Amino acid sequence: MARYTGPVCRLCRREGVKLYLKGEKCFTDKCPVAKRAYAPGQHGQNRKKLTNYGMQLREKQKAKRIYGILETQFRRYYEEAERQKGIAGENLLRLLEMRLDNVVYRLGFANSRPEARQLVRHGHFTVNGKKVNIPSYEVKVNDVIAVAEKSRQSEKFKALAEVATTVPKWLTVDKDKMEGQVIALPQREDIDIPVNETLIVELYSR
Ligand code: SF4
Repeated sequence: MARYTGPVCRLCRREGVKLYLKGEKCFTDKCPVAKRAYAPGQHGQNRKKLTNYGMQLREKQKAKRIYGILETQFRRYYEEAERQKGIAGENLLRLLEMRLDNVVYRLGFANSRPEARQLVRHGHFTVNGKKVNIPSYEVKVNDVIAVAEKSRQSEKFKALAEVATTVPKWLTVDKDKMEGQVIALPQREDIDIPVNETLIVELYSR
């Protein structure tokens, strides 16, 4: 699946918020959003007030960038969210949260979603004991996500296992065992991303 490979800090500056795409750097004063709080590019400092459409578009772009998804795949998630019962915007966020790469990040086995995606791709995780190397794999309630046996001795995972992680209430983690479990579906209040999903639904409903 295609992915964005350009400079990621530029994406945060374009959206005007931290999207936490770089791991540790995001929490330091080297973060460009903290240093230059305006959009990148020659006209970044003179942007005009956004129209309704502009606001809807920005919300969609922000969500895509947070989860590292390009347009075609994102639209597929939206179509699936619309088919499901309930509120389309919340369904959309739930589908994005249930991606394996996001769950690996939420469990604290990666410093950022882009890193989680790469680690999944490289086969460092299992779901219910079977290796899964598809970042978009949709986890289910009761699934157990674990660091693969052969990866447990790597310094990276040993270091990550020593860092205490606060996981959202729909997940549990056991860092000693290097595994976590999905114990419920995430509800909107559990998803702490700075996105107004209603605007995304409005955009696609035009
Ligand atoms: Fe870069 Fe992270 Fe700051 Fe975003 S939050 S601009 S990815 S350092």
